[in-house]
Amino acid sequence: EKAQIGVTGLAVMGRNLARNFARHGHTVAVHNRSYGRTKELVEEFGHEGTFLPAESAEEFVASLERPRRVVIMVKAGKPTDAVIDEFAPLLEPGDMIIDAGNAHFADTRRREAALKERGLHFVGTGVSGGEEGALHGPSIMPGGSPESYAALGPLLEDIAAKVDGEPCCVHVGPDGAGHFVKMVHNGIEYADMQLIAEAYDLLRRAGGHSPAEIAEVFRGWNAGRLGSYLIEITAEVLSQTDAETGKPFVDVVVDQAEQKGTGRWTVQAALDLGVPVSGIAEAVFARALSGDPAVRQAAAGLPGPSATAGAGGADLQADVEQALFASKIVAYAQGFQQIQAASTEYGWDIDPGDMAKIWRDGCIIRAKFLDYIRKAYDKQPGLASLLVDDYFLDAVAGAQDAWRRVVATAAQQGIPAPGFASALAYYDGLRAERLPAALIQGQRDFFGAHTYHRVDKPGAFHTLWAGDRNEVPA
Ligand code: NDP
Repeated sequence: EKAQIGVTGLAVMGRNLARNFARHGHTVAVHNRSYGRTKELVEEFGHEGTFLPAESAEEFVASLERPRRVVIMVKAGKPTDAVIDEFAPLLEPGDMIIDAGNAHFADTRRREAALKERGLHFVGTGVSGGEEGALHGPSIMPGGSPESYAALGPLLEDIAAKVDGEPCCVHVGPDGAGHFVKMVHNGIEYADMQLIAEAYDLLRRAGGHSPAEIAEVFRGWNAGRLGSYLIEITAEVLSQTDAETGKPFVDVVVDQAEQKGTGRWTVQAALDLGVPVSGIAEAVFARALSGDPAVRQAAAGLPGPSATAGAGGADLQADVEQALFASKIVAYAQGFQQIQAASTEYGWDIDPGDMAKIWRDGCIIRAKFLDYIRKAYDKQPGLASLLVDDYFLDAVAGAQDAWRRVVATAAQQGIPAPGFASALAYYDGLRAERLPAALIQGQRDFFGAHTYHRVDKPGAFHTLWAGDRNEVPA
């Protein structure tokens, strides 16, 4: 008997993916650098399906039907290259290597190009949902060639999460497209988490509520338009009590947020593309600020507002819900714009509505809200910004007064709300009839003769700032 698919790298993610394939009736070849993990998997979970354990790479490759489908689930970076180098020579033209780890999309593009020359398909695949997702149905974002998707897609769709019977898996686009959208997914996740954290902070400090009370507020929100996995788990975390001290769990955790790097990658890529993903950037920077105790300690004596400005708006809770929803819309609008910009830059032809579709379940940002994003792109595939779609436009228009009150309250009371505030600034920037960018163009022309365009006639112009200050065509 041959296996339909093989998984190499059997730490928590690889093991669960292999089990997921097996539970769906596929025969799965399994391999790991050190045989211990392979043995453990078969001993513990062998009854869940048919596994073909292999001690060596050669044995593993020989146990796969052709074209071979080899899923790599190892640490991103050098280990992934090492595993590719080990397997590529053992494979034959038409075979596929599927990198399901969290690779940087530029690495994926490089690997895909190199393996294509050897006649191999390389499929950089984003997998979201953590270990539970891998086992019970992740959101899957495969890149690579359309031919490879024809041979691989049905298996991935089988193990993916489903919404109304539709799999949370779609061929995203060629080469690095899958890993790119997985990266932006994670970036949006950073923004979402930061906004939720700001909402909590405001309810706690401006509203004077306890973590347990705020957990209830989040539970209420979860039943409404904010309904999502992240809101749901936030309520769980906030209602947790520390067994040792009896204090709220959130009060015994060190307030320094860590990161593994995909948020930073998203912002770096956005800078290269020139797309303002300020929501994601603020989230990455807020984690960086929290994680710098030396600077925080040195700055701890900086004065705050001289008088507290009351307890915020008349109904802080309702206002914060509005601010959270509006800021979330901005963060998603920015993330989707980044995907569209990359799609144009790299010729990926990504359907943004498809991304909203496959993020509705299985992944960390899963939410009711994504259905509206999908509908927006179905209605208007070339939508310039989510903010101009009817549903989102109405939501933001309805929220904006409350949103402004919340940002003002945060500023007056000295509570940091970089996510809310920068989302609002982005919104006001987008809708502005005139921006002070005109002044910046003037400054650039003054010190660097960088020229400018006029509102009333075509062409580029320069003013002789150091001379008679007359304007000349550039
Ligand atoms: P780890 O990232 O901890 O990687 C451990 C695995 O990599 C082990 O199987 C290990 O083999 C193998 N490995 C490490 N170095 C090498 C090498 N040089 N050659 C061969 N194999 C090597 O495992 P995870 O399961 O946590 O994650 C796997 C991938 O999935 C990563 O890319 C991660 O970013 C991604 N991912 C993880 C998620 C999560 O929630 N954990 C969510 C989504 C994606 P050995 O047992 O022999 O040491």
